[in-house]
Order: sequence, then structure tokens, then C-alpha cells
Amino acid sequence: MSSPNCDGCFRVDKSTNAVRFCMDCEESLCRECVAAHKTIKVLTTHQMVDLKDSSAGKVKDLAAKRYCRTHHEYTLEYFCTYHDAMCCHACIPVDHRACDKILPLNEASKDVKTSALLSDISDGLKLVSSAASETMHNREENIQRVNEQASSITGSISRFKETIINKINEMEKSAMKGLSDLKNEIISKLVNEKDSAKDIKSAIEEYNDQLQFMIKNGSDNQTFVFLQELRVTILNQDQTLNDAISRLGELSLNFTETNVIGEKELGSIKMSSDPCDVQQKHTKQFGAQIMLPIRKTPKKITYNSKLKIEQKESEMVKILVTGIASENKELHVCLNNTVCTYIAPMENVRAK
Ligand SMILES: [Zn+2]
Ligand SMILES: [Zn+2]
Ligand SMILES: [Zn+2]
Ligand SMILES: [Zn+2]
Repeated sequence: MSSPNCDGCFRVDKSTNAVRFCMDCEESLCRECVAAHKTIKVLTTHQMVDLKDSSAGKVKDLAAKRYCRTHHEYTLEYFCTYHDAMCCHACIPVDHRACDKILPLNEASKDVKTSALLSDISDGLKLVSSAASETMHNREENIQRVNEQASSITGSISRFKETIINKINEMEKSAMKGLSDLKNEIISKLVNEKDSAKDIKSAIEEYNDQLQFMIKNGSDNQTFVFLQELRVTILNQDQTLNDAISRLGELSLNFTETNVIGEKELGSIKMSSDPCDVQQKHTKQFGAQIMLPIRKTPKKITYNSKLKIEQKESEMVKILVTGIASENKELHVCLNNTVCTYIAPMENVRAK
């Protein structure tokens, strides 16, 4: 960081590096100007700070005159004891016209270095600093806790996944066994049904062989008797087969998936918040630098009561009502440009 220029030399159009800052003159000075400063009697009491001193780094800013935020051209040279606020001379007639104790800065700042204000503010700095440290510590602990929770949850998620996989493997085994059992049951039923049909077919083939034998070798009588027997037998076999067919079904195996993976996630992770246990000791109120409300001229007045206006039915003219509230609690109303005074109780009039 380059050192600032000497304000003394700057006035005589020289450019030199400043080494010290005079708190009283509020100027940066070079080595030569510092020496010259010391030769003048009235300046010997002036407080000089070394610009190399790190805590004096911001010395120029700290010692600089403070300007009014409203009236940028004026410095804050007064202190209003009612508002506990610094102000410039232009602020006084605007914001502090009713304030009875406005002190010049010199007077207000007398003995400030031994004042209760300074010791309160020093205590305040310590309290705020320790509360900030405690908050930092608390947040640091919370960060660590959240990191630990995250790794613990990572483990839980993995374990839960394993559990689900094991469960699904078991479900697969059980489904395979179910499939195999049912298949065997169906096949065995189908085989039985096939065997029954096969039995009927064999019997029928045998009867056919006997019939062919009878046709070739038997007498008419023998054939006739045989046909009588065969007629009953065929009817029985036909009935048996008919009954069996009516009980048959086209058997199939079907698989319907259970929606075990219906959920999109293994679980949900949410943030919860409990009250934080940082306890803050509050600093004293050093007189808040807030502007107390200043009575201003109201811009809008609302009248909260009915105003009875005498008007004949025939005269249906538009009525224009304007009004003004006076200091002596009266509302003066103007109807259609004709002034008439209506004494209104002021509690019905609200100013904005
Ligand atoms: Zn100089
Ligand atoms: Zn000086
Ligand atoms: Zn001002
Ligand atoms: Zn004031």
C-alpha cells in the first residue's frame, strides 16, 4: 500500500510521501513538515500518529470530519441530547426545532474518555464480540454435526438398500418355488386328463378290433348280440368322455408383477430446525440514533362521522365537499364552493 501524500506540501504544489498524521490538524505530513510543525509553539501540543503503525492505518478515515447524510455539504457539529443524535446546523430547524438541548460538539464531547458512555460501549463491544464468537462456535459445531449425520445417513441408505435387495432375493426364491409348484400341479392334472382320454381311446380301439373280428368270423346272431352290448358300452364311454371334456379347461400360467418398487426413493431426507442454544447478553442501549417522530403537516384527513348536508330533493346537483381542519378542533367544510363552518369534534377526524 503506498503511503499518502503530505497535505502540507500539496498546498505548495510539492508531492512528498507523508509519514505522520496530525490528529488536531487532521492532515498527513511528510518528515520535513512534521519537523516544521514542531517549531511552531501553538502546534507543539498537537497529537501525531505514525502512519506505519497498523492501527493507525485507517487514521485518516477515523479522524475525518463526519458529514451530514441529509445535508452533504455540512459537517455534524452539534449533538441533540433529546434525540441522542449528531446533527448539522441545517438539521436543527428541520428535525430538532422543538429540542431544547442541542450542544456544540466540543461541549458534548468534553470528558468523553472517562465517561460512562465510553465504558458502556467498550463493554458493549466485548459482549457483541463474545456473542459473535459463541455463534461462530455454535455454527461450527452444527456444521460438524450435519457432516456426521450425513455420513451416518449414507450408511443407513446403503444398509437399507441391502435389506431391500435381500428381501427381493427372498421374494424371487419364493416366486420361483410358487411357479414350480403350480406348474407341477397343472402338468399333473393335464397328464391325468390325457391318460383318461387315452384309456377311452384304447378301449374303443379294442372294441373296434372285436367288431372287425365279429364281422369277419362271427355268425349273424353273435354279431347282433355283440352290437347290442357294444351300443351300451359306446354310449357309456361317450358319456364319460363328454363329462370329462366338459370339465376340461385350457390351462395357462400367468405372471402379474407386484409393485414392490412403487416408491421413487429409498426414503426421504429432510431438514429439521430446533431452537439454537446461543444465549446473547444484550448491550446497554446507548441512546438509539433513531429520529423520534416529528410532527408533520398532515397530507390527508379522513372524517369518520356522517355529515348531514341540507339539500332540497329537487336540487339533485352534484355536491363537492372539501374541508380543512383548524387548530382549534374544528373542521371547516366547503360545500359547492360556498364556505360554511361545521364544527366537527376532532376525535372523528383522522389525519394522515
Ligand atoms: Zn510536507
Ligand atoms: Zn497539527
Ligand atoms: Zn444536516
Ligand atoms: Zn433533537
